[in-house]
Order: sequence, then C-alpha cells, then structure tokens
Amino acid sequence: MKKEKNDLMEKIISLAKRRGFVFSSSEIYGGFAAVYDFGPYGVELANNIKKEWWKSMTQLRDDVVGLDSAIFMSPKIWEASGHVKGFSDPLTECRKCHTRLRLDSLIEEIGVLADEKMSDDEINQIFDANRDKIKCPNCGAQDFTSGKSFNLLVQSNLGSFTGDWTKDPVYLRGETCQGIYVNYKNVLDSTRVKIPFGIAQIGKAFRNEITARQFIFRTREFEQMELQYFIHPSQTNEVYNYWRDVRWQFYLDLGFKSENLKWHQHENLVFYAKEAYDIEYNFPFGFKELEGVHARGDYDLSCHGKASGQNFEYLDPKSGEKFIPNIVETSVGVGRTFLAVLCEAYHEENINGEERVFLSLPARLAPIKIAIFPLLKNKPELVSRAEEIYHHLRLKFRCEFDDNGNIGKRYRRQDEIGTPFCVTFDFDSLEDNMVTVRERDSGEQCRVKIEDLEKYFENKII
Ligand code: ATP
Repeated sequence: MKKEKNDLMEKIISLAKRRGFVFSSSEIYGGFAAVYDFGPYGVELANNIKKEWWKSMTQLRDDVVGLDSAIFMSPKIWEASGHVKGFSDPLTECRKCHTRLRLDSLIEEIGVLADEKMSDDEINQIFDANRDKIKCPNCGAQDFTSGKSFNLLVQSNLGSFTGDWTKDPVYLRGETCQGIYVNYKNVLDSTRVKIPFGIAQIGKAFRNEITARQFIFRTREFEQMELQYFIHPSQTNEVYNYWRDVRWQFYLDLGFKSENLKWHQHENLVFYAKEAYDIEYNFPFGFKELEGVHARGDYDLSCHGKASGQNFEYLDPKSGEKFIPNIVETSVGVGRTFLAVLCEAYHEENINGEERVFLSLPARLAPIKIAIFPLLKNKPELVSRAEEIYHHLRLKFRCEFDDNGNIGKRYRRQDEIGTPFCVTFDFDSLEDNMVTVRERDSGEQCRVKIEDLEKYFENKII
C-alpha cells in the first residue's frame, strides 16, 4: 500500500514536470531547495484555484472585503505578533549525511505526537530520551547534533544601506494574516463593514522550513489564502462552526471525495486559541494538514493594539458596547490545494492494453477548457476552419490549438493536462458544419453544430 502511494506521488511529480505544471526553481543551476516554479499549465491551475477561493470568499458574500497588503512590513509587527521570538521549529542535523531535520517529525516517527503547546525544549527532551530509537530518514544513521530552536522568519536587508543589517533585519512575511490585522482599522474606517465581517487576502508568505520534502506540500516560498473574520466574543461558537462548514463544503464543491478529507482537532491549544481544527487531505504520504480553521480570540488585535498604542476597540453602533473583536481564521496554501487537486484528479486506465492517464479536473479548474484540432495538419482547408473556431471560442474560454501528431496523441496530451473537451474539425465538417466534441473522462464523442459550440460549452463549463 505504502509503495503504491509512493508510486502515485512519483507519477504526479513526473507528470507535473513533463506537462509544464511545476518545475524545481533554478533547475539549470542544480535547483534551490523547497522552492518551485509554476509552469504554463501550473500558473493557470493555481490562478483558477485562487479565483474559486476569491469568488466564494468575497464576491459572493456581503460580509467579506478583500485586501492586498505588502510583503514587507515594519519589523515591529513581527515583534508584536511574537514571531521574532517564538516562530521556530526545533532542529537537529544528522552528523553522517548532514540532513537537517525537525525534531517534532523525528519523534512522530516513534509514535510521539508533538502538539502545538509543546515548547521546543520539551520536544528536545523527548528527542534526547529516545535517541537510540530514532534513525535519520535519509541515511539511517543514529548520530545527531543536539537540538536547537530555529527561527522560521526569513530575514532581508530592505532599506538598510549601511552597517550590519543582520542586527536590525526586516522580514519577508511569515504569514499573510498580519497584514490583515494591522489594516483592520483602515478597513473599518474606509468601508461600510460592521461586525461581524471578514477581510480576505491571497498572497505570498516565506518560511525557512527545515525539512523540505514532499514536493510542493511544504515550500519556503508559498502563497496563502486567508480569511480573518471579526466578531463579538459571544458569537465565537456559532461563527466558528459556520466557517468550518463553509470551508469543508468548498472542497466538496471542487469535487474532492469526502473520504479524502478529515478534521483534525488540535489537542492542546496555544494559550490564546479558543478552538483549532485542521482540514486534512489524504495525500499519497498520508492525511496531512490542508487548511487551518482557528478561533483566535482577541489575541492578534490586542497584541498590535498594545504594541502600537492604537485603540482597536470596536464601538457597536446599536448597543453602544465597546470591545476588542475576536477573530475566526481560515487559512490554506495555494500550493497545498494545488497538490491535493492533482492527487484527486489523477487517473489511470487501461483501454485495449493501452494505458491512458488523465486529470479529471473540474472544468472550472482545468488550465485549458477546450482544445481545438484540425484533423490533418497538411490540409489548409481544415486548418483554417479549425483556427476560425479557435479564435472565436478563445474570446470566452481558455483554449489551445493543436495540429501536431495524430489525433490519439493529441488527446493523450490534453488528457494529461486535464482539458475537459477536445474539438476536431474533419472532412465531414466541411460538408455539415459540425465538429466532433470529445469528452475527457468518458472518451465519449458527439457531433455539435459549429454555430452552437459557444452555447454548448457555456452550459458545460461553469
Ligand atoms: P504545518 O504544520 O504543515 O507546518 P502550519 O500549521 O504551520 O502548517 P499555518 O501557519 O496554519 O500552517 O498556515 C496555514 C496554511 O498555510 C497551512 O494549512 C498550509 O496550507 C499553508 N502552509 C503553511 N506552511 C506552508 C509551507 N511551508 N508550504 C506550503 N504551504 C504552507
């Protein structure tokens, strides 16, 4: 079973590269650990995922507004939020192969679950007490350096023109939500929002992750899609449960099988949290966190209120009550969703001894919605009419024109990038003004009038 799952991961990684979804960063220079680039189809898929999230979280709601805060922010923000002191993972290094490893992952291998509340010191003690049982997952050696805390914030020298900037660094943001908290008052004062309301943001975050495995599951540069929802403290339970339902449904709407999703409750909460659950996805390497849905109390606004000297109290216009809003947060990575979408969509089948691989992506997510082919490349009358259809349909849908190789080969290519429909203009089309439309998953084909194509696809691609 484990081998099958490893194989699946290998196949997905290989398809992602072969078909232009994901490339290792800086590959021609030997790569750059835990950083990836999205290729031509990858950027389309990632954009479609973000579009779905943005639409459901802002466009279709009256109570959520969007934001795009800068990646660079005052270092004071990261001090106030506790990241400069406490945003760390416990780290060790294998003395034999020099792989850096997270202690919490190592002790998990021997069945000890490090929870949110455990300090790096506590994890280190457990590690030390079990050194004889723990092996390096890379080379199998049992010789590790002593554990130490490793801060995950990525430092930079923006605006530091002289002197030793490492003493006074700025940070690339470690999470997008801090930009939301510090703009809470700006949004409140400049729009008509009233509590309860949310601010949504999609943007890059950076973390010096210690272990960089599992492809795009854990990367050092990644994008987050986050909602911070501001409420009266008495609304916490109701609002929290509501957002849990909404976020679960989001994945079902994207076509995820419910058996591939599960809730994981954080057993020991950090001191400020009221509730914390993660939605886990059944990745080939096991159920792992996809999204966090957390009730964070008033911790974030209180910290920034105190550190900045600003009054973050909300005055309820009806009751006249003043209070610091509590926050319910939903937070998910674009890359993790991307990987889950690929895992969910990857299919293999054997037709008459020939293997077919296809990505069964929902049309909304598919990088290319319709591929248009002339039956033969060397027949100008077919090529020009197919091009006409292509130029017309691409005004509405993301299309691709392909006249290379036999039709079977063109279908295989489109199957592997998850294109839901292929349209072929053949010799009969010259006579009857109809084309063959072939559906990806079933392979079924039907003839559709050229003049009806746009309507036909409007009904299918929603
Ligand atoms: P993990 O326990 O996997 O490190 P986390 O609990 O630190 O994740 P959060 O800080 O809650 O994650 O971030 C919210 C979401 O952002 C995660 O659920 C995940 O989807 C995404 N995310 C976090 N870190 C990374 C990363 N290094 N690479 C890709 N996505 C990430």
